[in-house]
Amino acid sequence: MCRKLLTLCCFLVLAANAQPAAENHFDGKSWWGHIKVLAADDMEGRETGSAGLRKAEAYVVEQLRQAGLQPAGSDGFYQPIKFVSRQIVEKDSSASLLRNGKTEPLTLGEDAIFSTRVDLAAEVEAPLVFAGYGLSIPEKNYDDLAGVDLKGKVAVLFSGSPAEMPGPLASHYQTLKERWKAFRNAGAIGIITIPNPATMDIPWWRIALNRTHPSMDLAYPEFDESRGEKLAMMFNPAHAEKLFEGSGHTFEEIATLGKDRKPLPRFPLAAAIRTTATVVRNEVESANVIATLPGADPKLKNEYVVLSAHVDHLGIGEPVHGDRVYHGAMDNASGTALLLDVAASLKKSSERPKRSLLFLFVTGEEKGLLGSKYFVAHPTVDSGSIVADINVDMFLPLHPLKVLTVYGLEESGLGDVAREVAQTRGIAVQADPQPLRNAFIRSDQYNFIVHGIPALAMSVGATTDEERKLHKDWLTNRYHAPSDDLSQPVDLSAAAAYEEVVRGLLIKLADESERPEWKRDSFFRRYERGSGQ
Ligand SMILES: [Zn+2]
Repeated sequence: MCRKLLTLCCFLVLAANAQPAAENHFDGKSWWGHIKVLAADDMEGRETGSAGLRKAEAYVVEQLRQAGLQPAGSDGFYQPIKFVSRQIVEKDSSASLLRNGKTEPLTLGEDAIFSTRVDLAAEVEAPLVFAGYGLSIPEKNYDDLAGVDLKGKVAVLFSGSPAEMPGPLASHYQTLKERWKAFRNAGAIGIITIPNPATMDIPWWRIALNRTHPSMDLAYPEFDESRGEKLAMMFNPAHAEKLFEGSGHTFEEIATLGKDRKPLPRFPLAAAIRTTATVVRNEVESANVIATLPGADPKLKNEYVVLSAHVDHLGIGEPVHGDRVYHGAMDNASGTALLLDVAASLKKSSERPKRSLLFLFVTGEEKGLLGSKYFVAHPTVDSGSIVADINVDMFLPLHPLKVLTVYGLEESGLGDVAREVAQTRGIAVQADPQPLRNAFIRSDQYNFIVHGIPALAMSVGATTDEERKLHKDWLTNRYHAPSDDLSQPVDLSAAAAYEEVVRGLLIKLADESERPEWKRDSFFRRYERGSGQ
């Protein structure tokens, strides 16, 4: 703590002495001006496929047009995408535990909730097995599934990872795709996840509140990652003791170990689960919005640096304190507004970066990073021409910007460039201080990463206990709640400083003679074009 602060202070002094004052392009006011439009009531929370999101995207397109950016979608500025939506009908669905010949009904919402991220089977009855963290990580010779009989069973997991596991690696293997691959190979038919109460961003009651809201997936067979998964549920940690009854273990014991990221035991549970699920399926259409600013160099202009942000949010849901509109001002009207600001500023500027810049406003992020997943699989520019992605999602300028948290700081050359650019403005950088929150895989940069493209995301980091509390309270009270709205206090100067770093980073990446590369020892280097495994 002290050491960190000390380093930071020296560093600030050095940076201030060594560098000429950097030029300013932003004041935070235009940024807030866009947010005021995008997070207003009449945008209805911008849910994927909704009229509200279409209206928000029309605003984005209009702004891009006015600023003089060129369309780079497949249909003008748009890249249309088809989705399937799934909604659980709870009154026609049920879940119960079977133990010692007795049926113990579970209360949906109180005890557990169905996840329609997978295509739930109408009926499931299967024994339960506790599989610890449920992680299978070959490169660390770590396997929670080894020696556990999962054939025809439903696995119960505690979310998180053991302490020895590096953050990005643990995050990667907790994705729906990687996780299910391992469990499917082991013969499991479903997964019940118990969130780690020590790292939950959103309290259970708020998760449960919108449990019947539709979830979505891309409506193309190439993206089906949960094939064979008949059951997916989340279990309330406050009620999880009932799963462990009669097993010789308690949930309290598991949660205590898991809190400190200690190794977890794995064992059969003394119960089976029986579920019936009624799901309504619908087709939904939405689109990414894509614009470009062509580069100045005759050769390098055929390469692109992407700046991405999701426009979609959660839409209209269950009311909290009387408000039904989930405004998504920080998540992620803030990132959308930044893209508009930076695009307009660079178009106006006499600086002409060598590579082309691509401004990518994606849909379907809240539904599981779907718009960006579609884009990287079907890019509207030459595949192979994208050299990097900088993703901006909920960067939270809640207080002055002294430290930037860089997700993926140590993974590629992008981290070094980000550090350099931040330094010129007297801003320090740090790696993710809370790897357990899995921020690295929780936004659109991840789809670029798994396609071999170096990517990173950044947010305003806390340096004092008071600032840490601001962030914690924001996540508990405003994150994915209607109160992520226009009445919340934000620091416009921090937003402006953050915009300057992003702008500087883009220009530097666009001008650098070499493409950024993955670090030699980065786990994610395996996805590099031509060297994938
Ligand atoms: Zn979100």
